[in-house]
Amino acid sequence: MGTYNRADILRLVEDENVQFIRMQFTDIFGQLKNVAVTASQIGRALDGEIMLDGSSIQDSARVEESDQYLHPELDTFAILPWRPQYGKVARLICDVYNPDGTPFDGDPRNILKRTLKRAENLGYRFHVGPELEFFLFQTDEEGRPTVKTSDEAGYFDLGPLDHGESTRREVALALEKMGVAVEASHHEAAAGQHEIDLKYTDALAAADNIMTFKLAVKTLAQKNGLHATFMPKPIQGAAGNGMHVNMSLFRDGRNLFYDEGGEQKLSLLARQFIAGLLDHARGFCALTNPVVNSYKRLVPGYEAPCYLAWSEANRSALIRIPDPRGRGTRVELRSPDTACNPYLVFAACLAAGLDGVARELTPPPAVAGNLYAMTSAELAERGIRCLPVSLDAAVQAMEADRVVMEALGPYAVRYAARKRQEWEEYRTQISQWELDKYLTNC
Ligand code: GLU
Ligand code: MG
Repeated sequence: MGTYNRADILRLVEDENVQFIRMQFTDIFGQLKNVAVTASQIGRALDGEIMLDGSSIQDSARVEESDQYLHPELDTFAILPWRPQYGKVARLICDVYNPDGTPFDGDPRNILKRTLKRAENLGYRFHVGPELEFFLFQTDEEGRPTVKTSDEAGYFDLGPLDHGESTRREVALALEKMGVAVEASHHEAAAGQHEIDLKYTDALAAADNIMTFKLAVKTLAQKNGLHATFMPKPIQGAAGNGMHVNMSLFRDGRNLFYDEGGEQKLSLLARQFIAGLLDHARGFCALTNPVVNSYKRLVPGYEAPCYLAWSEANRSALIRIPDPRGRGTRVELRSPDTACNPYLVFAACLAAGLDGVARELTPPPAVAGNLYAMTSAELAERGIRCLPVSLDAAVQAMEADRVVMEALGPYAVRYAARKRQEWEEYRTQISQWELDKYLTNC
């Protein structure tokens, strides 16, 4: 942070012949929003004078307090590489402020900043490296998305089997141009499924980077006549889209999760953080897995977690400790899916981990075996509980979790209410499966 100052931005707009600046922010449900201003307005934009009507955004401000202001984060200035290079378009990621100059409680970026501040006061910097999975599907003659793919590739395959290779490459190049460091990209297990891993960075930049990534993937797929989706489980019987979150706490450039002499070379802090995550994983599930469809991914057999357990290498566990130690020591949380709002997920994970540290929790023993293969009796014997099996159960668990509710602040209640409504809407649907199963049998 601290790369650009005001004069730098004014100069960049001028030198690069930028015509439009998109002032971007994210709503509480993880939807990216923006308002474009012309280059002549850049001074006002940098002074935080660009307004929005918050009441027009789903579950955002109330009508009587709807005027809000966008305060851009200067370091997020980037030129959108996929827009025309004559008359360029730049973007600035913004915080949302109330007219009285206070940060807006329903702004997820503000929610994350608040939690990061708490960590900072304890001397911790929270680092995050996300692994992002998505599908590229074909569109029909009218340009509507389908769930078809002509790609028959699998894990780590390459062209000509991999038909999304060039889109994935374009995304990685666009991200690099925008200052987002890409660590790796590859074809994933399911046909038409891809993964891009971003280099770890501080959590706020990581969440901003994920929003940039999603926009780049959607836009470049569309340019190539494909439809990109972050839907958690678009195809029954195939792997779903995870967003594994690799986390660590740093102080003075040192990774505090590493301890050469510790059990598994993990520090006590890391173990308490893991215990905190396990303790609140049910409570933050409505955030990590925010839609009805999320719960169709959290089933045995597809390397997505279902049980509250941790392990060193086992991909069936909720938390895994990837091999690197030293500076690269990290805790990988495997439940989040790419439909989540990354700002809220990072805030909740950090609050959960810090709660484990504050209460000096001890994690249960790491599990070595394949959890999918264990019977319910074996799971019960080891005291291993399940993640919520539906959005409904997740919302209930969230409402009962004081740490998660407090991390979200006043907007937690609205978030839960909206998610419950989404569940109620789903609950009353009659699916094809039900008709096939019961129409003649009942
Ligand atoms: N696609 C799997 C999931 O749903 C993860 C596969 C992997 O280990 O990368 O989380
Ligand atoms: Mg993967």
